[in-house]
Order: sequence, then C-alpha cells, then structure tokens
Amino acid sequence: MELIPGRSCGDCTVCCTWPTINKPEIQKVSGSTCRHCTAGGCAIYETRFPVCRGFYCAWRSVDIFDEGWRPDKSGVMPYVETEGISENFDLSTGIGLMLVGHAGKIVRQRWFQDFIITGVMNNVPLFLSLPGPRGHQAATVSLNTEEMVEAIRRGTVKDALEGALKILRGWDYAPAVITYSGNDVST
Ligand code: SF4
Ligand code: SF4
Repeated sequence: MELIPGRSCGDCTVCCTWPTINKPEIQKVSGSTCRHCTAGGCAIYETRFPVCRGFYCAWRSVDIFDEGWRPDKSGVMPYVETEGISENFDLSTGIGLMLVGHAGKIVRQRWFQDFIITGVMNNVPLFLSLPGPRGHQAATVSLNTEEMVEAIRRGTVKDALEGALKILRGWDYAPAVITYSGNDVST
C-alpha cells in the first residue's frame, strides 16, 4: 500500500479503538482501546503486530483527504471499502466514512456535505458507517442513492445525511465474533 508522503498518524489511535481485531496474535473487541495505546500513539509501534502494520485508514493512503480529515481531529475515519460495490460503478473500490466522533454534528458540517456531494456526483461508491456498541459490528449504508442525488439537486443534503444517520442509529447491530484467543488486548 502506498502512503501519502509526509503524513503520519501522530497521536491518533482511532483505528486502535473502533475495529474488531480477530487474529491469532492479537484480539480486541470493537469499541475498546487496545491496551498498547498511549496518549502519544502505539507504545509498541516498532514491533506492532502484522495486522496493525497492514492497516492504514484512507487518510493515510488516499490523496483526496486533506490534513483536516485526520480521524482523531475530524471524528471521521475514512477507509477503503472493497465490499458491496455494485457493478453499476466504474470503480471496484469505494470510500467508507465511519463516524467515530459526534455523528450528528459531523453530518451538519459543510466540509463533510461537500465531500459527499462531490463523491456522489462523480459516481464514487460512498458509504456512511457508524460503530456499533462495544463488541458489535459497525452498521453501514450506501450514500449513492436516488434520494441523495435528489437531495443534492434540492440542496437538502444535510437532511438526507441525517436520515441516513437515523437508519444507522436504529440498526440491529450484530455481535462481532472473536474466534481466536490468547492475546486479548481489549481494555
Ligand atoms: S485511524 Fe488512520 S491516522 Fe489514525 S492511527 Fe489509524 S491509520 Fe493512523
Ligand atoms: S498494538 Fe496495534 S491495535 Fe494496539 S495500539 Fe499498537 S497499533 Fe494499535
């Protein structure tokens, strides 16, 4: 994976908190910060686990996100989505936007709405995601809907995003399954 030159995680630890990790060498339930996290980032960064070395959010790897999108600052963890992409798209991958901060506030922000408008109008597969309760899978909905296109045309994107958020908040979140054991770093 190619990374954006000059960009580093700094003291962001968002991806060490929200995803479930289920690997032989490390396990962690979603919504629980890894016990190796410190205020300055990963305490074992140089020797961190392979799964940790292999993951970078889209802020680190996709050049459409500017500095302000750093997940711990923006409240949004963008990630490259490879599943659920319809054949109607020219692209085989999309962008997921996981709301890890104040979700209701984020969808009201103009910079966030502008990103959605640009992506949808350029036929980029976009997904809005909300972490589930601790130990559960996240919920995700597509933003490339007729309703969103109509909302863009009418200038009501905020309402459409709030509608998508309402669906996510009412989601029947499935428990995350952890099959490995031996090094549970959940806190
Ligand atoms: S969410 Fe992105 S910026 Fe934050 S620690 Fe993970 S890879 Fe780094
Ligand atoms: S070990 Fe992995 S999950 Fe834990 S803090 Fe370090 S990078 Fe994050």
